[in-house]
Amino acid sequence: MAANDIFARIIRGDIPADIVYRDENCIAFRDINPQAPTHILVTPIKDLSGLQTAGDDDAAVLGHLMIVVRKVAEMEGIIESGFRCIINAGPDGGQEVPRLHIHVLGGKRLGAMLR
Ligand code: AMP
Repeated sequence: MAANDIFARIIRGDIPADIVYRDENCIAFRDINPQAPTHILVTPIKDLSGLQTAGDDDAAVLGHLMIVVRKVAEMEGIIESGFRCIINAGPDGGQEVPRLHIHVLGGKRLGAMLR
């Protein structure tokens, strides 16, 4: 059965989003609650509940997502200034939407997070 998470509904066009990139394997759109001047989510078209459920056969789509992150960073003009990618995975990772997605944040100097 097809997933019905909120990002699946954006992919299907059932609910609106500010889509900045789309191809046959993924979609990228602006986060509705941005944490930086640029805050874009890159998520696969394939139903994948998170990085924690990715299998060996998902290597190509995961690699593709990273290339799209780079393209989106170029489109947003943050390739030189820099950006941060975050994947929240599972409850302790703070994942709220059960579809794998990469947060792309930039446009300001982000504070250190890992200690
Ligand atoms: P996560 O906690 O990693 O699952 O991140 C989910 C992200 O989705 C949050 O940053 C939300 O602000 C964002 N979000 C939730 N609903 C929407 C929506 N309809 N359009 C765009 N972003 C959304």
